[in-house]
Amino acid sequence: MADYDYDLFVIGGGSGGVRAARVAAGDTGARVALAEEDRYGGTCVIRGCVPKKLMVFASEFSDVAEVGSAYGWNMTAGSFDWQSFRGHLNTELDRLEGVYRSLLKNSGVETFDARAKLVDKHTVALSTGETKTAKTILIATGGRPVRPDLPNAHLGIVSDDIFHLETLPKSILIIGGGYIACEFACILHGLGVEVTQYYRGAQILRGFDDEARGLIAESMRERGIDLATGTNIVEMGPASDDHSGATPTASDAAMGASAAQAADLAGESSATGGPIWVKSTNGHERVFDTVLFATGRDPNSTDMGLDAVGIETGRRGEIVVDAYSRTAADSVYAIGDVTNRVNLTPVAIREGMAFVETAFKDNPTAVDHELIPSAVFTQPEMGTVGLSEEAAREQEEVEIYCTSFRPMRTAFAGQSDRVLMKLVVSVASRKVLGCHIVAPNAGEMIQLAGIAIKMGATKEDFDRTVAVHPTMSEEIVTMKTPMRTA
Ligand code: NDP
Repeated sequence: MADYDYDLFVIGGGSGGVRAARVAAGDTGARVALAEEDRYGGTCVIRGCVPKKLMVFASEFSDVAEVGSAYGWNMTAGSFDWQSFRGHLNTELDRLEGVYRSLLKNSGVETFDARAKLVDKHTVALSTGETKTAKTILIATGGRPVRPDLPNAHLGIVSDDIFHLETLPKSILIIGGGYIACEFACILHGLGVEVTQYYRGAQILRGFDDEARGLIAESMRERGIDLATGTNIVEMGPASDDHSGATPTASDAAMGASAAQAADLAGESSATGGPIWVKSTNGHERVFDTVLFATGRDPNSTDMGLDAVGIETGRRGEIVVDAYSRTAADSVYAIGDVTNRVNLTPVAIREGMAFVETAFKDNPTAVDHELIPSAVFTQPEMGTVGLSEEAAREQEEVEIYCTSFRPMRTAFAGQSDRVLMKLVVSVASRKVLGCHIVAPNAGEMIQLAGIAIKMGATKEDFDRTVAVHPTMSEEIVTMKTPMRTA
């Protein structure tokens, strides 16, 4: 047998790669190395879920004074200090990166702060100039945000950049209607930024249940986010003096395409270098301090030496794998966002654990991608598991149980927020096929509902569960009559 430097070499130190590396080393005693070119913890910890959730928390304090006053507290709203928050955030991220590094070290994983690419199916070349061999190689390089193919798109920022902004803009245009666009629209609005959002489709959050996303869109608008659907950006450029009359709201200023293109050719720089002029598909021209492109993410698979070992990639560059995360090269596996299956941190972690079972514990384990609960951290949040009403009724006859009401906490303060609880039930099997919750802390609720639904709970199982009173979630077990059959 060939003598390799390691049993396993992992490329990428994000959630999936780190979990696979430390479980392989810790549980099986495998000799494991891992290379990461950026910061340990990857997208989730450094520029995704974790800092985003901390920003969600920060933004939610904006109406505490208003609600508190209704409850008798003598409170006045203060102002938000971005620099203070960002300093604290950076300290926390440094701490978490340290935790990730120690987890690897304590499991006996050797780490390289370097970029790695495949030379052959058992060899990686590091940017340090070293070459390492391994019996098995795992690619867990994640993804990256993409800008649309538009002249001057470099003037806009992407989600990675938000955490590094020196100051918060006064106004921002967010392009896109997916998770990232909607979450940051709510966060930045809560932090006091004037938010405009353009989404090219008819309704935001494509793929989610129609009623749930409809309520989120309505709530976002009610809170003051200027959400324009059926609208996209067509041109952008640095705002010139010609736009001095333009405000972050609709502008009559005219700047022809030629001027915008001229600015592009002149190579105007920097994502946050100054106000940006934007023309949209509805003909409006406006000026914003910042433009955020939340237009999707592509797998990080370029310049990885994949062709050299015959690894197949898909249209967006995703590494093609089988149910066991095996690529076309028999010693090379791939997990997480680089495979573009279900791009969520806990899924990448599951894929990493299944990989270790398959490759190191002689227990081939396919990843179960069915009934994955997830949350969108808009305000209000959405928690969802299983099929939307629209997807379910394509499949079979379903009963829809749905209720929408004003939650006690904010109704008392005179706020108009609504929550939604919805179950999609199979008429034939009585199983709950989908559960959709739009409410404060819906992410917390759906985790628990997800267990029941994953176990195959029927509507009658929900019915015989006693309500926890008074809560919002009690409605999920008290909806007796279907609203409709579809
Ligand atoms: P999404 O794929 O969810 O959304 C991309 C959005 O950009 C869509 O609305 C899409 O429109 C739009 N879009 C794409 N290309 C263009 C274009 N050229 N011009 C205008 N609009 C465009 O990507 P995100 O970046 O929001 O998120 C990436 C992934 O990260 C998610 O799929 C999710 O898996 C994960 N994520 C999960 C979170 C969570 O669990 N809470 C939070 C954040 C991210 P259209 O619908 O028409 O295609």
